Amino acid sequence: MAGTQHTQQTNHTQHEKYDVVIIGGGMVGLSLACALQLFLQKKSFNKTVKIILLESHQIKTDKVLQPGFDSRSTVLSFGTVSYLKKLGLWDEIKSKAEAIKNIHVSDQNHFGSAQIKAQETGVESLGKVIENQDLGMALNKAVLEQKQIEVKSQVQVNLISHQAEIALLECQNSKETFKVEASLVVLADGGRSGLREKLGIHHKQESYGQVAIIANVAFSEPHHNVAYERFTPNGPLALLPLNNFEQDNRAALVWTQNAQEYKEIIDLDDDSFLLKLQEEFGQRLGTFYRVGERASFPLSLLEAEEQIRHNLVLLGNVAHTLHPVAGQGFNLAFRDAMRLAENISKSIELGENPGSYPRLQEYLKSTSLDQDATIGFSHHLTKFFSSNQQALVWFRKFGLLSVDLLPPLKQAFSNQAMGVRDRMIKVI
Ligand SMILES: Cc1cc2nc3c(=O)[nH]c(=O)nc-3n(C[C@H](O)[C@H](O)[C@H](O)COP(=O)(O)OP(=O)(O)OC[C@H]3O[C@@H](n4cnc5c(N)ncnc54)[C@H](O)[C@@H]3O)c2cc1C
Repeated sequence: MAGTQHTQQTNHTQHEKYDVVIIGGGMVGLSLACALQLFLQKKSFNKTVKIILLESHQIKTDKVLQPGFDSRSTVLSFGTVSYLKKLGLWDEIKSKAEAIKNIHVSDQNHFGSAQIKAQETGVESLGKVIENQDLGMALNKAVLEQKQIEVKSQVQVNLISHQAEIALLECQNSKETFKVEASLVVLADGGRSGLREKLGIHHKQESYGQVAIIANVAFSEPHHNVAYERFTPNGPLALLPLNNFEQDNRAALVWTQNAQEYKEIIDLDDDSFLLKLQEEFGQRLGTFYRVGERASFPLSLLEAEEQIRHNLVLLGNVAHTLHPVAGQGFNLAFRDAMRLAENISKSIELGENPGSYPRLQEYLKSTSLDQDATIGFSHHLTKFFSSNQQALVWFRKFGLLSVDLLPPLKQAFSNQAMGVRDRMIKVI
């Protein structure tokens, strides 16, 4: 219950009690914390609302150490950028983010291609590309500089159990083990969640048999804010415009390869890697001349079979992990986080338990259409463009042309890519 007694007697031991505990300070857990802190800042209650975020790695403002903020970049959809503005985070991020003004979709060895232009869609940009480290820095700073939400880093949550109306968490830091109680636990501990397994929550997983190789690359011609999605027989290849660094024209490469063959590519020396990329992508960006740190990610679609239980909600990659082809994973999880923040805010305002099952069902209802559509879009796009079956190749050729020629089809495609399917979620 919001704002009730904050220490409770459980098995004769005093445990700190929270209204909401967020487990995981990755992109998604931190985004939820930012939305909730805005809510707490704007509203006043006669009782204290206690929220805490627990993260196993250190959370710092000068360096980002959580594993999700690695050398990848993320496309923030138009919808996500609008929410980041509302949350007051955009000013910190905007100088590091590069606008996508045009998405160019093509199929290697086939003449069909499609373009989605911001101008035609009536927006200044279709989305923005940001390096994960920069996004992490802004999110870390935002949660550490506010006072409404407690943040404990270098705390590993080992177990979640239930006791009557509350969830009990067993936690550990470098010095001790301790327990906390929560009316609502938001599990945002990523796709390889050990806690989801311990809770006995099963998941469906379909491997794409592909691995994404990521790296930043520099090239001779300006990118003109175009994001390229090129479908090759091995899988999609994306080049996302980044802001210039020391005169270099740069893009974030997400290069999908067959899982059996990716090692041959990732282990190439720089010159051979760039040559291979040039062969696959062509000359649209001139000559590729530098490649940064490379990393690889095996790709699968993962969906948890339960997203809510009494006192518990799964958020982010632990609930659904998507293929990165359409840049939808974080954007979908971010919208989930905004809807959850709205749901928690309502519960607290009404003096209700934010972890009650009916409240969480409401949250799930508010987000399931978006989840189904986004997961379907990303999954079928990947399958469709990875197939070498002749019939699909032909269909694809004309499919791309029709996306280019038919305004309603193009609008539907761009709405999904932009993350603007539905009403603006009322964060506050
Ligand atoms: C190559 C690639 C490119 C991508 N590009 C895009 C894109 O352009 N656009 C987009 O929308 N999405 C993109 N995604 C998807 C996006 O990266 C993910 O959706 C997002 O990172 C998920 O974040 P998360 O917070 O759920 O999980 P994570 O980043 O995994 O965070 C989980 C956090 O929980 C912590 N943790 C784990 N266990 C515990 C525990 N027991 N106790 C305490 N803390 C714990 C971890 O330390 C970690 O910090 C891409 C993904 C890949 C692989």
